[in-house]
Amino acid sequence: MNGQTHTVFDELGFRYEPDSLYHQVITDVLDTSGRLEQPRHLQLILAQPKNEIMVHYPVLMDDGNYRLFKGYRVQHNNILGPYKGGIRYHPDVSLDHVKALAVLMTMKCSLMRLPLGGAKGGVQVDSRAVSTDELRRMTRRFTSALGDNIGPNHDIPAPDVGTNAQIMAWMADTYINLSDARGRFTGQAVVTGKPVAFGGSYGREAATGQGLVYVVTELLPELGIPLDGCPFSVIGYGNVGSWAGRLFENAGGSLRGVMDHTGAIHADAGLDAYELAEHVAATGGVAGFKNAEAISVEDFYKLNVDLLIPAALEQMITETQAAWINAKVVAEGANAPTTPEGDRLLRERGITILPAILCNSGGVSVSYMEWRQDRDAVQWREERVQDELRSLMNAAAQRVKLAAHRYGVDLRTAAYASALEHIGQVYELRGIFP
Ligand code: NAD
Repeated sequence: MNGQTHTVFDELGFRYEPDSLYHQVITDVLDTSGRLEQPRHLQLILAQPKNEIMVHYPVLMDDGNYRLFKGYRVQHNNILGPYKGGIRYHPDVSLDHVKALAVLMTMKCSLMRLPLGGAKGGVQVDSRAVSTDELRRMTRRFTSALGDNIGPNHDIPAPDVGTNAQIMAWMADTYINLSDARGRFTGQAVVTGKPVAFGGSYGREAATGQGLVYVVTELLPELGIPLDGCPFSVIGYGNVGSWAGRLFENAGGSLRGVMDHTGAIHADAGLDAYELAEHVAATGGVAGFKNAEAISVEDFYKLNVDLLIPAALEQMITETQAAWINAKVVAEGANAPTTPEGDRLLRERGITILPAILCNSGGVSVSYMEWRQDRDAVQWREERVQDELRSLMNAAAQRVKLAAHRYGVDLRTAAYASALEHIGQVYELRGIFP
């Protein structure tokens, strides 16, 4: 933490907690802002989310009992446009994590130059442990508890870990039903990542993995790594991991190992990324996949690959895993998968990290396209979505490379620098109200 960041922490009464994801992320952001010599008021504003909304609500469970759920929506910053960010259903959802993920959304939208701000939400629940009926009732009640805190012109949620297109459809339907004064016509633009039949966009489901693949296929050859036969491994085989796996296989990669919450698997000859996705859809995890050897977590990290794609949860790559990793490049599909100590060790070991706010911004980019389609009541062809996504990802990758060169910094710092330059410029143009 640099001296200026220290004084911001002091002024806001924060005491640095090394295990706090929020403190880790905001320290990186503030340190980079200090390096750019940005005004102190900008750092104070970014150091705290604008709104931290916490709701508790009862839901009727299938056994006839009521259960009380805790939900969050953190709206970090909206200087660039309406708040935007996913909703997570996971037992470990906490205010600290949701705040950190909201900051990352602000940075991501700014790096991509999208007219959107940053937010994140979540509910403490294991979505695999509740029935479909319970999930629907819980989602509708959470949406109504959020009330006017979300809206197509104000704050637009999307799927994240543990949520999907069906859950977004229930959120949109609940929102539309709550009040027709809000307008039924554009009401579905309140969330993105919906099914294509109900206001969703072609390309949204695979967008995050696709965006990551656009970035790595652009940057790996520049790092001297050929795409043809490129050995790679993936952590997490959910939405992001399985699409990154399938689409990078299409681009020439050879999937050598995958780890998820059910175990780790490996095959020297390569795993079929499409068949593995079918296996996960049928069984819930990668364990037991045919033609693959079950391996330990440590052996998974030690696999000799050119590319590792973490696409599961935050803070999975600490110093321990960073010492094991035997890859040339880590392309972060998950948000904040690398702790500061893990990051430092990977860099010391000469491993290139392609940061999350660049690699996983394909999701919010196609969400932005979905929101535009909903507002115009049109549906774009898949080719148009892919063209726009490819050019947005390539432009952002160029921005990050330029910033790394200009400031002489690693790619993560460069991505924050480019995002902060844009936000700083908009604050200067708009001024601080009144
Ligand atoms: P998902 O729920 O579809 O998949 C999560 C995966 O993580 C699953 O395969 C699960 O098995 C795995 N996992 C959970 N605990 C694990 C553990 N302890 N060890 C190994 N694997 C574990 O979620 P997703 O939407 O693919 O999101 C994954 C990451 O990508 C998250 O960090 C999310 O914030 C980020 N992200 C998602 C999107 C999106 O569009 N879905 C966009 C940007 C970023």
